[in-house]
Amino acid sequence: MVRLDDERIERYSRQIILQEVGARGQERLFAARVAVVGAGAAAERVVAYLAAAGIGWIAVEPASRAVVDPDQRDVALAPLGDAASAGCDAAVVVAATVAAAAEALASWQPRAGSLFWIAGGWAGAWPPCPRCAVSTTAGSDEVGSLLAPLREGVLATVIATEVVKALLAIGAPLAGRVLAYDPATATVAAETATARCARCTG
Ligand SMILES: [Zn+2]
Repeated sequence: MVRLDDERIERYSRQIILQEVGARGQERLFAARVAVVGAGAAAERVVAYLAAAGIGWIAVEPASRAVVDPDQRDVALAPLGDAASAGCDAAVVVAATVAAAAEALASWQPRAGSLFWIAGGWAGAWPPCPRCAVSTTAGSDEVGSLLAPLREGVLATVIATEVVKALLAIGAPLAGRVLAYDPATATVAAETATARCARCTG
């Protein structure tokens, strides 16, 4: 169990002073295990944000390891293959397309409210799965290659925040809604997803 010492209090002071976090919340983040499935700009942003928040154990693709400062001694990076045996408190699935995200998400058996996804300009928390979410909302579609990393970064920051909220049980979650961000038109939409496939209702 990682305990707060003077150095950690200094490092995480901006979080610890928040009433919703506090010392106990920070220790809960140290003890948390999170998997980030997938590679690319969004996955790297999620990993970087979670590491900065002091999540103690993160299972990642090899490509995402480089975003974490090797001196960040509070964060253990593990291979994704260890996530199932370790048992995760939350998981984030990142994929290029909604179909790929739905497929990757199907292999996880999470608790509702602890499985998140980012794909194709949308982001959400399961349930709904990406297919159900996108079938009920008009979100962003194709985006220019210059803007794509920006879109991924914004959605990743939102989802990483949702992970921290879920771990600390604070705020109102994104659950049940799908977030769409289109940098080309500067539009953000968080719409309620009403469709439910068998997996989302079961
Ligand atoms: Zn579904």
